[in-house]
Amino acid sequence: MANYPDLGLFIGGTWRQTAETIPVLNPADSTVIGQVPRAGIADLDDAVEAARKGLAIWRATPPERRMQIMLRASALLRERIEGVATVMTLEQGKPIEQSRSEVRRACDIIEWDANEGRRIYGRQIPAEPGMIHLALREPIGVVAAFSPWNFPVSSPARKVAGALASGCAIILKAAEETPASAVALVRAFEDAGLPAGVVNLVFGIPAEISEYLITHPAVRLVTFTGSIPVGKTLAALAGRHMKPAIMELGGHGPAIVCDDVDVDHVARISAVAKSRNAGQVCVAPTRFFVQDRIHDRFVDVFARHAGAMRMGNGLDLDVDLGPLANTRRVDAMETLVADAVARGARVVTGGARHGNVGNFYPMTVLTDLPPDARCMVEEPFGPLALICRYSTIEEALEQANSLPFGLAAYGFSDDADRVAAMVANLECGNLSINHYVASVAETPFGGVKESGYGREGGVEGLQCYTTVKNVSHLTRSAKIGAMNGVG
Ligand code: NAD
Repeated sequence: MANYPDLGLFIGGTWRQTAETIPVLNPADSTVIGQVPRAGIADLDDAVEAARKGLAIWRATPPERRMQIMLRASALLRERIEGVATVMTLEQGKPIEQSRSEVRRACDIIEWDANEGRRIYGRQIPAEPGMIHLALREPIGVVAAFSPWNFPVSSPARKVAGALASGCAIILKAAEETPASAVALVRAFEDAGLPAGVVNLVFGIPAEISEYLITHPAVRLVTFTGSIPVGKTLAALAGRHMKPAIMELGGHGPAIVCDDVDVDHVARISAVAKSRNAGQVCVAPTRFFVQDRIHDRFVDVFARHAGAMRMGNGLDLDVDLGPLANTRRVDAMETLVADAVARGARVVTGGARHGNVGNFYPMTVLTDLPPDARCMVEEPFGPLALICRYSTIEEALEQANSLPFGLAAYGFSDDADRVAAMVANLECGNLSINHYVASVAETPFGGVKESGYGREGGVEGLQCYTTVKNVSHLTRSAKIGAMNGVG
């Protein structure tokens, strides 16, 4: 396949192949475009050993030098943006402009973390004369990272950048569905001069790799982005081995739209936000709670925009909606929509898979949804927009908070009291008012409730990759003072 690179495991600064491989599919036409190597136990042993050595080198590397290497990696990725975006669209399906923008976003994250790595300060705590109390922030050690297929460059970039900026080494298990994107990211660090072993990349059977790495004594931190069920399994494993974890899991994003807004504008940007990466986004708005007076108009405008979106191969220039990343997602859309319709929901637009080549499913708008429809309680992770009606802000907040998830939430109003009610009461890790950007490089991102814990991005994100060592130092001058009866 033109443009699709050879894939390898990256261990101790060297690319390696394996006897066993896993096929990689193009979701736009289901053809096999590559083979991803499958790591065995010997490869994982080597990866841990390499990371141990990498950690010793990297934590002793001056922060300024670390920053320079990271910035060089980011610059290389920016230079390679067209090739990386093409590969991402080939294996993941999203429209090419969204792939480009994801690479840019990954670069923003690497650059911000690179700079912030020079500002990981400890504290000096006031003490009696002659005593020095220092709370030092140290790199936590070797990190085991598991990244998903929906953001195959920016999600691993967040984990790699956080680890590297904090002085840690990392073993990344990126998604087997989208390996070339992760390979491109790692190549940028390799070409930037990152010492061998600081970043290692493996693929294989996810459960085998997570079991091996999380239980390995050399691994000190686990970071996972993916589904809640898998997150719970990995968090339990980490807990049994007393390892801290960053869990960035699913959500079921509520968007509360109040009746003082420009309804056409909000309906339009809501449809665009929902269509991003065909809805396969943990922060996607999914349950739209729209106030009575503007509900019908909102549904009309949203459905008109959603229905007009062009679906097709993400490499074609005028495509708004690519294929879903794998057949599991198409099956899930079919199941969820059939269930909702059987319970009385109305399909305003979409609602059936498109063609039988590739994983195409259109933007789908459902209304008149009973609260027990499965899509109202399970994360669809696809292009389903569930539009519900509400009367009072209290009612909207109650519905928004009714699920055990709390990742991103959105609110639309210019009324200060309503906004204040949303800010005070929405149970979420990220709240965006009057727009749909859930996070940027410098802001902390993560969830509450079953959406996870720990943060990625911002100062809070880097802190997760460090541990605190408190040093109490009784100085010689204090000892002399004590001998002389002073103090
Ligand atoms: P899944 O639960 O099988 O896998 C989710 C991710 O976890 C994949 O990247 C997979 O490789 C990885 N994984 C699975 N089992 C693992 C294990 N034992 N150890 C380590 N990693 C493991 O689901 P899926 O069909 O790939 O995706 C569907 C669901 O995943 C969606 O409904 C969505 O909720 C969730 N998801 C969330 C995100 C996110 O950004 N939070 C990203 C991708 C998928």
